Amino acid sequence: MTTYNQVTPEIIAMLEKITPGRVVFGEEINPDYGRDEMPIYGTNMPAVTIDILSTEEASEIMKICYANNIPVTTRGAGTGLCGGSVPMMGGVVVCTAKMNKILKIDTEYFSAIVQPGVFVGDLKDAALEQGLCYMPDPVQKFGSIGGNVSTNAGGMRAIKYGTTKEFVRAMTVVLADGEILKIGANVSKTSMGYNMTQLITGSEGTLGIITELTLKLIKAPKAELVVVVPFDSVDKALESVPKVYTAGFRPAGLEFFESTMLQMTEKHHGKSIYFKEAAGAAIDGYIILVFDGDSMDELESEIEALTEFFLGEGALDVMIADTPALKDELWWVYNALMEAMLEEYRLIDESDVVVPATRIAEFKRYMEDEAAQYDFDIYYLGHVGDGNLHSFGVSNDMDDAEFKRQMHLWMVALHEKAKEMGGVLTGEHGVGFGKIEYFRDFIGERNAAIQKGIKLAFDPKLILNPGKVTFTFDELA
Ligand SMILES: Cc1cc2nc3c(=O)[nH]c(=O)nc-3n(C[C@H](O)[C@H](O)[C@H](O)COP(=O)(O)OP(=O)(O)OC[C@H]3O[C@@H](n4cnc5c(N)ncnc54)[C@H](O)[C@@H]3O)c2cc1C
Repeated sequence: MTTYNQVTPEIIAMLEKITPGRVVFGEEINPDYGRDEMPIYGTNMPAVTIDILSTEEASEIMKICYANNIPVTTRGAGTGLCGGSVPMMGGVVVCTAKMNKILKIDTEYFSAIVQPGVFVGDLKDAALEQGLCYMPDPVQKFGSIGGNVSTNAGGMRAIKYGTTKEFVRAMTVVLADGEILKIGANVSKTSMGYNMTQLITGSEGTLGIITELTLKLIKAPKAELVVVVPFDSVDKALESVPKVYTAGFRPAGLEFFESTMLQMTEKHHGKSIYFKEAAGAAIDGYIILVFDGDSMDELESEIEALTEFFLGEGALDVMIADTPALKDELWWVYNALMEAMLEEYRLIDESDVVVPATRIAEFKRYMEDEAAQYDFDIYYLGHVGDGNLHSFGVSNDMDDAEFKRQMHLWMVALHEKAKEMGGVLTGEHGVGFGKIEYFRDFIGERNAAIQKGIKLAFDPKLILNPGKVTFTFDELA
C-alpha cells in the first residue's frame, strides 16, 4: 500500500538545518529510543532521532518526511506499555521530551497551558502550588503529558474525575504534511462540529504530533484520606468492590494489589516495607481507597460507615493513612510494585482489559482458571474500581517463543471473555503495536474501516507511527 524511503545523508543534512546539533543517527542513537517499557512486543532502532524544541521544528521536520515518505514516530518519555513509541518501521523518531515548559497556570480560568514533554507529576505539583489540581493520576508520574494525552492515560482518580480526555480543552497539533493545526478552545463546553481534541486524544501519535496542550484544572480538594483494607482472600476483596458504590460511597480512587506482588517487590528492594498480617490472619490482597472532599470532618464520618461496611464484607481491618508521611509511604509501595516487576523479570506481557466493575471478581477467577494450563506466573494489580485490573504474565525461565505462544493463547481467552462481558481491550495503555493483533476482532470490521478512513484523512501517506492502532504491518507492505 505504501513505500517508505530510507533516511539518506541528504535528508539528514536537511534535518540538520532545522535542528542544528540535534539530529542523532547511527551508533550515536540512545538505545532507549528503540523500545518502551514492554519490549516483548518488539524493539527497533530508528535511523535518526531528533529532540525537538518547538512547534515550528516539528512542522519543518514533517514537511521533509512527508515529501520523502519517511516514517515518523513521536516519542514522549518512553514509559508506554504497548510499543506505541517504538519506531517499528525505522525512519525518524521525533522526541517531545525536551519541550517541557509549563507555559501558564491560569488561576482565574482554572487551566494550564503546557508543552507536551512536561512530566505529569510536575504538572500536578505546579497546579497544587496554586491551590489547583490536575486530577488524572497515572501511577507513572514520569510519563510526559503529551504521552498521557496520546494514550488517554487513566490511573487512580478516574472513577470520580474521569481519565485524561476529560481534562483536554485545546491543543496544537502538527499534521503529517507539516501543517500546524490549532483545535479546541479554553472554554468549558463546545458542540462545534466533530470533537477533534477528543479524536487526537488517545490516537497514540498516529494522527499528528502534539506540541502544546491547554488542560482543565480544578480547585484542589481541601481534604484527602487514603484507606487501606486488607483481606485474607483476594476473591472476597474483589467481590466487595462493586458493593462500595451500591452502599453509597463515592471514592475518588479504588485500587488493588495482591500480597504475592508485594512480597516480590520487597524481595527486589531487600526490605520489608508493609504489613502482611492483620487480625491474626495472613493478608492475601489489599484494597486502597482515596476519598477527597471539603473537610476532614466530612471524610471521617464517611470513613466510619466505610469501616463498618468493609468489616461486614470480611475485611481483616480498615486502616487510615491521614498524614502526608503515611500516604507517601503507601503510594511509594504501590508505585514500586510494577517497577519492581519490570526489573525482576526477563519476560513480561500484560493485559489492560476493562470489564464492568460489577464483574471484576468473576473475571479474575476466569483469568486464573485459564492460566492454570500455562507455565508463566501471574501478578495482578490496578484500578479495580474502574474494572481495569492489570494482569501480568511473567517468567525468567521459559523459552521466549514458548512464553509468547502461551501468552497469546491466554490473551485471546481473556479478550473473548472481556468482550462477552461488555468490556474493552485496553483501558489506558493503548493499542500501539502490542495489541493491534487483537484490536480488529474486538471492534469489528466496520468500525476498523471507519478508523482507517480517519487515519487516511489525517495522514494519507501513512507515515505517522506506522504499524500502530489502525493499519497493520501486512496492510502497509
Ligand atoms: C510503572 C508504570 C506505571 C504506569 N502506570 C500507568 C497508569 O496508572 N495509567 C496509565 O494510563 N498508564 C500507566 N503507565 C503507562 C505509561 O506511563 C502511559 O501510557 C503514559 O501515558 C506514556 O507517556 P510517555 O510520555 O512515556 O509516552 P511514550 O511511551 O513515549 O508514548 C506513548 C504513545 O504516545 C505517543 N506520543 C507521545 N508523545 C506524543 C506527542 N507529543 N504527540 C503525539 N503522540 C505522542 C507515542 O507515539 C506513543 O504512541 C505506566 C507505565 C509504567 C512503566
